[in-house]
This record gives sequence, C-alpha cells and structure tokens, in this order.
Amino acid sequence: MDTVEIAGVLIDTRHYIDGHRVASVETFENTSPIDGSFLGNFSRAGASEVNAAVVAAKTAFPEWRELGPRGRGDKLEKLATLIEENIEVLSQIETLDNGSLLRSNRRGVMPRAAANIRFFADWAIKELKHDAFETRGHVNHISWDPSGVAALITPWNAPLMLATWKIGPALAAGDTVVLKPAEWTPLTASFFADLTIKAGIPAGVFNVVFGIGTEAGAALTQHPGLSRISFTGSVPTAKKIARAAAENLTPVNFELGGKSPFIVLGDADLELATDLAVEQYDNAGQVCLSGTRILVHESISNEFSRIFSEKTKKLIHGDPRNESTNMGPQIHQDHFNRIAGFVARAKDEGANIVFGGSPNLELGGLYFRPTLVMQPKNGSEILTHEIFGPVLCMQTFSNDEEALTMANSTEFGLAAVVVSGNHEHAEKITKNLVAGTIWVNCFFVRDLKAPFGGSKKSGIGRDGGTWSFDFYADVKNTVIAPNGWKD
Ligand code: ADP
Repeated sequence: MDTVEIAGVLIDTRHYIDGHRVASVETFENTSPIDGSFLGNFSRAGASEVNAAVVAAKTAFPEWRELGPRGRGDKLEKLATLIEENIEVLSQIETLDNGSLLRSNRRGVMPRAAANIRFFADWAIKELKHDAFETRGHVNHISWDPSGVAALITPWNAPLMLATWKIGPALAAGDTVVLKPAEWTPLTASFFADLTIKAGIPAGVFNVVFGIGTEAGAALTQHPGLSRISFTGSVPTAKKIARAAAENLTPVNFELGGKSPFIVLGDADLELATDLAVEQYDNAGQVCLSGTRILVHESISNEFSRIFSEKTKKLIHGDPRNESTNMGPQIHQDHFNRIAGFVARAKDEGANIVFGGSPNLELGGLYFRPTLVMQPKNGSEILTHEIFGPVLCMQTFSNDEEALTMANSTEFGLAAVVVSGNHEHAEKITKNLVAGTIWVNCFFVRDLKAPFGGSKKSGIGRDGGTWSFDFYADVKNTVIAPNGWKD
C-alpha cells in the first residue's frame, strides 16, 4: 500500500524525490502514541534513495537559484497559504502522529509553520541588504548567494513547525532541500510534499526521504554533495553528524537540548511564576526550551510549591484530541521507558518526588504523570541530563550569586526563564545568564526576526531573520574599485 488514509486524507508513505513518489523495498511501521493505532508502513531509505534525493536537489539547484528572491518568494507565498488552508488536517494528522495537543496545533503550531515560510520568503526579498561599505573609494557590496543542497534533519516533538523553520530560510535563500523527518513522525512531511507540488515548487527543489536516523540520516549527513546540514535533536546524535560533516567540511547548524533554569526571584509575582512553571509541562515536557530546573528563592519556596502543586493537580491528562486536555502521551514506548528510567534511578538515590513520578495507569499506554523532584542532589543525573518529559526539578537559593551559579551549572545553554517584580533585579540576573534565549516574566514568545539558538552544548549557530541566511547562503563581498572603467 502506497497510501494510508488518516483524518480523511490520503498520506503517501513513499519518499518524495525529484517530483515523484519513490518506494523502498524496506519499510518501517508508524503508530500513534495516543492508542498505538497503525499509521502506515513508510519507505525506509538507505544510501541509494538518499543519493537519488541529493542528486535531484543538485540538478534542480541552478533553476531555483536563477529564480531569485522574488521568483522563489511567489511560490513560497503560495506554499504558506496552502499550509493555512490545511491547518485543520495538518493539525489532526500531527496530533495522531506525535500526541501533541490538537488545539495547540490548530491555534499556534500550524499557523506558525505557515508564518515561517512566509516570513523568510519576505525577508529574502526586503531585508537582506547591508549599506555598502566604502574604503578608499572602493565599494564593498555584500550579498547572500544560494549555496547548494541543504540537508535538514528534524525531530518529532513539533515535526512540521520545526521543519518549516529550516525549509523556509533554505528555500528562500535559493538552496534546494533534502528533508529527513524523524522516524516516529513522518506524516506531516509527506502531506507537506504534496503542498509543495500545488505551490508550483519545481521537481527536485524539495525532497523528502523517510527512514531511520542511523540509516537514512547517517547516509544523508555523510553525503559529499551537500552545502549545508541543519539538525535539531539530541547531543549524542549531533556529535555523530558533526563527525560525518567533518569528512566533507560541510557547515552545520545545530539546535540541541537544554536543561534550562526557571528562576523565581524573591520579589516575583507568585501567581505569574506558578502559571509559567505549569507551562514547562507543555507538550508533555517534550520541548527543548522547557525550564526544567525550577530555582526558587528560599523566602517564597513553600508558598511557590504549594500553589504550583495545586495548579499542576488541575492539569487534565488524556487524549490530546479533546479540547479540555492539557497534557497528552509521550511520543513512543522507547522514550517513555527512558523517562521512567530517569525517575526510577532518582527514586533509588532517595530523591524526594513531591508529585507524579509514575505512569498514569488509568490512561494506560504512554501517559506519564507530571512530576516534581524536590531538592535533588547537586550533580545528580536527574538535575544534569535532559529528560525531555514531564519531569521538573526544584531547588532553592538564598542569594543572586547562588542562583546564577546554579543556573549556569549545566553543559547546556539553550534558554532560561526569570520571574521577578523588579526590572533592575531581573536585569542583574539576565546579564549573567548563559543562554541563547531568556524570557523575563513570560515564556515561549519570539519574534521571527530575533535570533534563536543555544550556547554551550545546546547548539551551534542561530536561526531567525538574517542569522538564518548567514547560515544557508554563501555570504559574498564584491569589492568594486573606483578606477579602470571604460563605460
Ligand atoms: P531524539 O533523541 O530526540 O529522538 P535524535 O537526535 O536521535 O533525537 O533524532 C533527531 C533526528 O535525528 C531524527 O530525525 C533522527 O532520525 C535523526 N538521527 C538519529 N540518528 C542519526 C544519525 N546517526 N545521523 C543522522 N541523523 C540521525
């Protein structure tokens, strides 16, 4: 079977290469984390399908490059509109595939996917310019030239939205693309490929290969025909990709994990602080940006944990398709076991689990309760490793210096949240935090023009606005002399 019917639409289970659907002999099974239901047997790429996709992208590159920002922008605008017209179906298939909340997909995630495509198309047309620099009469013209074939490797926690974050700037910059979505969530990438055809994007400009990370992903990142590799995922996988990329000196952009601090200063508004803390369980904790280490000033810690516990108890755990649900299942049995393993080892070490710490047996399957671990030991696994599940740790501090030391004490530097009632106090903290993004009295808001990425082991490079083009494009300086002209 080449297609599977999901949410009233036919999803093709084959790769999309050079404008055609291409099947592999081998397949892998896709199931829903909601109830284990079957969602298709997808083609499982090896080196030959990956090579065909890179060759197709390379062949399509000159024509796409020649279209220029405006020609490409027209097609990308159509693509963004098509995403908007299909928000409902995209939301439904994404929810079935990865268990994320249907209402969040409808209202936030899928509109943002469309916005990503539209924003970067527009940015390439209007914003990619510098004032020309002038030195001794010589004018330096800076341009952002298409670089070639970009390989995009994406995760399962927000599959389409995170893919468009890369597809948007890569295609707008004039690169052609080979996308390898995560093996646990192939559905929206396949549907998206159909939308690119409707948008008039020429064959070979956008390709999708389905497959397992260690097979298709590895073959893709080793390929000598790439000009860029952009990856969002875990640190161990990033190290493998960096080694593969080193062989061909392919530039990489990595957005990796986090163990972000969520700092509540003594002058914080506790209602706001606890509301924001509850948000750290969003997407069942499967968000790289989550502030999973809650650091609270000792003067307010009892009150904070009382209100936070009350609010967390009200979270409705269950089927992510229901409007009232706050938290759905974990993505996959393997990931569920990994989360449960972290918690079991913490318990063995005598950790104080204030609430949660176990599966929700009434729901069965992959539902893990929201969990809070109080005052874990410094340096313990639960406090230093990214769990990527609904497991938060809480510690107290007695002064700003201690808060900063604790906050900066992991190998990650993706994000941080600071809750404070005093501008100066908040600024004193933010100035000394090591993180790519810091939210003060808020969470998760970001203008697409602003940079996004991680410090330390949380990533290499930044996305957003011109930063994205600095990566996907070849930045060129053409220096023009004042003399030597005959016209
Ligand atoms: P997670 O641990 O969150 O599942 P991974 O980093 O393993 O994250 O996976 C993110 C993406 O990386 C997925 O698309 C996966 O298929 C891909 N991937 C996994 N291993 C490799 C690899 N060795 N080379 C390239 N891609 C890989």
